[in-house]
Amino acid sequence: MAKTFKNFIDGQWKSSRSGETFSNLNPADNRIVLGKFQQSNAKDVNEAVQAADKAQKLWRNTTAPKRGEILYRVAELLVKNKESLAQDMTREMGKVLAETRGDVQEAIDMAYYSAGEGRRMLGETVPSELNDKFCMSVRMPVGVVAAITPWNFPMAIPSWKLFPALITGNTVVIKPASDTPLSCLNLVKIFEQAGLPPGVLNLVTGSGTGTGMPLVDHPSIDLVSFTGSTETGSIVASHCAKKMRQYSLEMGGKNAIIVMDDANLNLAVEGVIWGAYGTTGQRCTACSRVIVHHKVMKKFTRLLLQRTKALRLGDGLLATSDVGPLVNEDQQQKVLSYCKIGVEEGAKLLTGGNIAKGKGRSHGNFFQPTIFADVAPKMRIAQEEIFGPVLAIISCRNLERAIAIVNDSQFGLSSSIYTQDVNRAFKAIETLDTGITYINSSTIGAEIQLPFGGTKGTGNGHREAGTAALEVFTEWKSVYIDYSGKLQKAQIED
Ligand code: NAP
Repeated sequence: MAKTFKNFIDGQWKSSRSGETFSNLNPADNRIVLGKFQQSNAKDVNEAVQAADKAQKLWRNTTAPKRGEILYRVAELLVKNKESLAQDMTREMGKVLAETRGDVQEAIDMAYYSAGEGRRMLGETVPSELNDKFCMSVRMPVGVVAAITPWNFPMAIPSWKLFPALITGNTVVIKPASDTPLSCLNLVKIFEQAGLPPGVLNLVTGSGTGTGMPLVDHPSIDLVSFTGSTETGSIVASHCAKKMRQYSLEMGGKNAIIVMDDANLNLAVEGVIWGAYGTTGQRCTACSRVIVHHKVMKKFTRLLLQRTKALRLGDGLLATSDVGPLVNEDQQQKVLSYCKIGVEEGAKLLTGGNIAKGKGRSHGNFFQPTIFADVAPKMRIAQEEIFGPVLAIISCRNLERAIAIVNDSQFGLSSSIYTQDVNRAFKAIETLDTGITYINSSTIGAEIQLPFGGTKGTGNGHREAGTAALEVFTEWKSVYIDYSGKLQKAQIED
């Protein structure tokens, strides 16, 4: 009998008003139900937002260093529970344990980093035009934040939103992806244990349309922080725009690695392998295109193929698995359909291209690591986000052409170049139109102290993580203090 998990509203664990639940399945074996979660509706959302609204006054008046102390306690509890949190995450999301440990570690890093921000949160002091007058700017919370998160980083992405939002004095209602509600619930439980006051953080689980949409539309929401597909992000954006509400979007990617003729090929192959097949290709920063200089194409392809064929697929909990399953059956079918499209478009299928069966895999959503060669930059498999273990190899003649191919995309999240030539590296940094660029390293592996996000269809100009997150979760207030004790004439003339 699967355990039932509840919403967290105003400091209490509550069933949804409708009494309906949905099942959370293990993608490595769809027969295993990990738990039943609340199918929340607009009434549950309303209750959660009202609780967050009510808690706003108390929380914004709790000093930032005090808020930071609670976040430090969250960090310590995350450290203590890291292994069990990672195991839960592998069970519900599928990625291998090394990666889910990394996911929890990102939450830990973000917790410590944000807690420290409670004693910084820098504003500005600038000179005044007048004597006896002081000018400064201070950061204010935005208010009640709606956080909507995807399933591929089930704890890291909620943490990128929750920690910066909370340290800056906002209160939050979070709706996690329906494929991975457990990891977010585990995180919320830790906030509860750390002593976060009731109503400051609320969790409602449920579908995008039934729970997410009423949350976005609720009149007391001041800011929506969304991470997910570009398709859903544009719906969220249009609803927010109509209500003149702030929104921050982190969306899809079609990331690329450039391999130049002077590259260390063994290093480049390793980077491509983990960029393309880590998290079973379901990272927003996954490498799904590799643009290879024609002079090294033959050798690079041979090494890559050899390495890809050696990858071991299996349950992410097993130490013998390099690559876990896809998150659900729909995702498996979507990846399969893209492999068919690739063949129809005339790309050369070098390996994979199909659902992976075999011992220990017959009830899971496994997919063979796939490589297409002879891919033209305009093919759909080179343009659209597949979000699976499918790599497109594209040939190029020089750096300028490679950069043009990378930039010929509706997305702009992550890019990378392997080269020994410092001039080429700097040219790439300057001209690749992506929010993140790596040199001699894969498209993955962001650190929380730098801004995270992308250009074009990947985002709307905001960044998460680092001090950039403060721009999302705070409002500026400019303060003028006149201690002259008189009406200064220049004030009236301005
Ligand atoms: P998704 O389908 O867009 O869902 C994201 C979240 O939005 C989920 O919680 C979903 O709920 C909810 N949602 C769906 N429809 C909604 C609606 N109409 N109104 C409000 N909320 C709604 O994305 P996903 O499949 O979970 O995640 C994969 C995508 O996320 C990929 O495109 C990936 O590139 C992107 N991503 C981007 C970043 C980044 O930082 N740029 C990071 C990670 C992932 P349900 O789960 O209940 O449908």
